[in-house]
Amino acid sequence: MKVEELPVDERIKRVIRERGIKELYPPQAEALKSGVLEGKNLVLAIPTASGKTLVSEIVMVNKLLREGGKAVYLVPLKALAEEKYREFKEWESLGIRVAATTGDYDSTDEWLGRYDIIVATAEKFDSLLRHSPKWVRDVKLVVADEVHLIGSYDRGATLEMILSHMLGKAQILALSATVGNAEELAEWLDAALVMSDWRPVELRKGVFHLGQLFWEDGKIDRYPENWAFLVIDAVKRGKGALVFVNTRRSAEKEALSLSSKVSKLLTKPEARQLEELISSIEDNPTTEKLKRALKGGVAFHHAGLSRAERTLIEDAFRAGAIKVIAATPTLAAGVNTPAFRVIIRDTKRYAGFGWTDIPVLEIQQMMGRAGRPKYDRVGEAIIVARTEDPKKLMERYIHGKPEKLFSMLANEQAFRSQVLALITNFGIGNFRELVDFLGKTFYAHQKGDIAALEYKARNVVYFLIENEFIDMDTSDRFMALPFGKRTSQLYIDPVTAKKFRDAFPQLEENPNPFGIFQLIASTPDMATLTARKRELEDYLDLAYEFEERLYTNIPYYEDSRFQGFLSQVKTAKVLLDWINEVPEARIYETYNIDPGDLYRILELADWLMYALIELYKLFEPKEEVLQYLRDLHLRLRHGVREELLELVKLPNIGRKRARALYNAGFTTPDAIMRAKVRDLLEVEGIGIKVVEGLFKHFGVEMPGKVKEAGKKAEKARKRGTLDEFLK
Ligand code: ADP
Repeated sequence: MKVEELPVDERIKRVIRERGIKELYPPQAEALKSGVLEGKNLVLAIPTASGKTLVSEIVMVNKLLREGGKAVYLVPLKALAEEKYREFKEWESLGIRVAATTGDYDSTDEWLGRYDIIVATAEKFDSLLRHSPKWVRDVKLVVADEVHLIGSYDRGATLEMILSHMLGKAQILALSATVGNAEELAEWLDAALVMSDWRPVELRKGVFHLGQLFWEDGKIDRYPENWAFLVIDAVKRGKGALVFVNTRRSAEKEALSLSSKVSKLLTKPEARQLEELISSIEDNPTTEKLKRALKGGVAFHHAGLSRAERTLIEDAFRAGAIKVIAATPTLAAGVNTPAFRVIIRDTKRYAGFGWTDIPVLEIQQMMGRAGRPKYDRVGEAIIVARTEDPKKLMERYIHGKPEKLFSMLANEQAFRSQVLALITNFGIGNFRELVDFLGKTFYAHQKGDIAALEYKARNVVYFLIENEFIDMDTSDRFMALPFGKRTSQLYIDPVTAKKFRDAFPQLEENPNPFGIFQLIASTPDMATLTARKRELEDYLDLAYEFEERLYTNIPYYEDSRFQGFLSQVKTAKVLLDWINEVPEARIYETYNIDPGDLYRILELADWLMYALIELYKLFEPKEEVLQYLRDLHLRLRHGVREELLELVKLPNIGRKRARALYNAGFTTPDAIMRAKVRDLLEVEGIGIKVVEGLFKHFGVEMPGKVKEAGKKAEKARKRGTLDEFLK
């Protein structure tokens, strides 16, 4: 179908044409003829890169121009929210306002009311629904990207509940990877179904075994025995490759080993470009390895890297500066990074108790990254058989069908949160109504019978009543209690809230960081670090040393909670080091963690600390304890001791700069305001930009002459460093 023939507003066609798109891909045409433009729900299950986003854009903008209201676009990851936000911004030329929202789960975000397209993570939108902002009534369309995540153990229930809430209230467009039971999903959503294997770039799939590459069509190519030659061969042909492995450490190892081979193929300008890239990356033990690999044009990509580093790698790979990425499977679920050749080194991974096969759905998503539209005629996806039988791999992953999706609503942790929310925030008044609502879920549709879920729901309701989240009046109607309502809005597990409340009396007696951090680490909402076998004794010693500060008893070692407890102690110790200004690099080394891990526990701890304070406020708080908690929260957020709290509130002043300023005698904002520019520039990490920001913040104009002098002073100082000298 030609773009011209689309039955939509001329202006929409103009924007599409301006992107250089004249003809719709066949599955796009089919999708747009399915009735979705007239308001019918649609499940669109087609491979990555076959143009799902464009379909959703046309549907959204068409609806907004015709009917007004709002469209919500749900994504599974923050990085994807940013990617989509950037893409949708183009529609602003038609007067459509686009916003993205991801963090802060305790907010109505009324400001979103001014926007037409709202991009949000599923968790964020779920939390917004619990605050019932006014604009939610105007939502006329929900696009659920990567809807197959309904089958994900920890995140599926959220998506399923959002869709259950919105079903019948707004039009639904569900975008999915190819799954085994898309029909079932479409039936549940009362939606048309468009399914296809069509791809804009042909995909050739094969299995590599000891130097033989068996293609799916029966052809065989011969290579040296080591699969690394598949990578080198791609780079020699001027193309890139993605290598998927199952652990962070193997991603690093493969990247370093491939780097030494790829580096020989780089041109001088390419090497220079990489040098530039390397110099923009911060130093720590993980990036030290990354930098070594990057020298040869290869990167690794895993959850241990910071977001900024991952984005940098993705961008540089798309731009061709990085030739090869060795990645854990998270990359396949993330932003768009196509490559000519995709090599899957591992089809098994370690999951808790042993090795399991990676699902077909996930391997197919990795394979789907092969082939760059506009650049490659074909893309190649190759699975490496190491100890496995190549025939079996071919059967399972190349000729096989992806798995069915199963509802994860019954996952206990997710379910108790959702039941609480239904009662406290969504007006479910009694058990009958609760069961009726559950009858609208994918779980109910799939199982056809919700007896088991009803039984679980009953237990959850008992738990909620027993712990005063809700109550029941004499006519068996639910009543939301403030503790329950707040828990639900704070978007935490009721078990977390209960743990907090139970600890409040002891916390009031003896407020201290270690006790509070261990408490936070003991909740199901926290992702704790694991204490390894050889570390157990050390953390047990630490627990005994700090016993008086804890709000819980140290379990005996026969206790099933023993190892979990020591993991909480480890996590609490990391947080304690953080607020005592231990440098990040030392933290990574001491606890053998990556920057991404530290970032994640800090982010979670920050949110849980906030929730703890908010809940404490409900129980006749003592003012001095509340103040203590607030200060501790700030220390946690900034990673500083108490004396720096005033300084880190200043713009661009983080823990390092604040400490440097403090040690140089600038101990208060006032002292900084009165300081001479020259003296401030003497402080480590303080440049003219930072000083300008500070003065702006204080409302003090910096005379042009001072600025010039400042720049000169900064240059002179830089020249004085060893680095400059060596250059
Ligand atoms: P998906 O969301 O299915 O992964 P995208 O919508 O991101 O895929 O599409 C991948 C790329 O294909 C984008 O760069 C997009 O601009 C381009 N594209 C989409 N539809 C067409 C089309 N009909 N003709 C040419 N290019 C297209």
